[in-house]
Amino acid sequence: MKGIITAIQRMSIHDGPGLRSTLFMKGCNLRCRWCHNPETWNPLKQLQHIPSRCMECHTCQSVCRYDVFSSGEGPLELDRKSCILCGDCVENCPGEALSIVGREITAGDAAAELLSDKVFFETAGGGVTISGGEPLLQAEFCREVLEICKNEDIHTAIESNLTGSWQVISGLSDYVDLWMCDLKIYDSAKHKEWTGAGNEIIKENIARLAMSGAVLTVRTPVIPGVNDDENEIGKMCEFLSSVHGNIVYELLPFHTLGFEKYGNLGMRNQVEGMKDLDTAVLERLKRIPEQYGF
Ligand code: SF4
Ligand code: SF4
Repeated sequence: MKGIITAIQRMSIHDGPGLRSTLFMKGCNLRCRWCHNPETWNPLKQLQHIPSRCMECHTCQSVCRYDVFSSGEGPLELDRKSCILCGDCVENCPGEALSIVGREITAGDAAAELLSDKVFFETAGGGVTISGGEPLLQAEFCREVLEICKNEDIHTAIESNLTGSWQVISGLSDYVDLWMCDLKIYDSAKHKEWTGAGNEIIKENIARLAMSGAVLTVRTPVIPGVNDDENEIGKMCEFLSSVHGNIVYELLPFHTLGFEKYGNLGMRNQVEGMKDLDTAVLERLKRIPEQYGF
């Protein structure tokens, strides 16, 4: 079975315990305004142009048969609607400023790439993580990858927004050692305003996973002016305490790394002026989960 991914990242230390290989799926059903991985939203391939690498030589304009690039000198402008992703401009760009984001891959090939660091997982601890985008949108592909990893006795984790149905989640649970998800904002209407969807199903799935005995890491990305207050974090801690699960709760500070990707992909960044979270705020807020025993 084939899936569409944005990347396979090896030697990651941020996507679960130990040293990990992470598979980033392409396609997400949420639109968190603060997202630093906007290249994972669209489930289709996309043309990326990185202006800082561009030599403004206009070779791309001369090789493209579909008039995607502006004519004349100076900075390029792209008419992305006309692009058929043939890749001719990418191959001929001397500055490596152009690329196609997204590649199709079979589950077997993805697993083989992920398992190429198996020896490190076994010696240093670690494993394979499937992240996104939203993995549950390509659940059957993910199941195949995870099953291959489990057959090799490798620790597996999945990072999901948990908006999928319980049927899809439970269909994967035999192959997942660690579920990682976000609880971004407690109030559902506010969650919808900032991410495009309410959070009832997310809370329900967290509770069901906890009750099923799954090992869970729940994270809250702390966003300035959105959820960076004691009341908000307190409500989330209250909820997570009430479901009595095997839960690790983490607060993640908002950062602007990756924001340039919006422009590179011709997308609009809705929170362009937002600044990195002040670490003093995180220090203050982390006392709340500690009071709840997280
Ligand atoms: S070919 Fe590459 S370096 Fe030259 S103008 Fe196009 S994007 Fe820029
Ligand atoms: S990928 Fe093909 S169609 Fe798209 S801009 Fe490049 S050359 Fe033109």
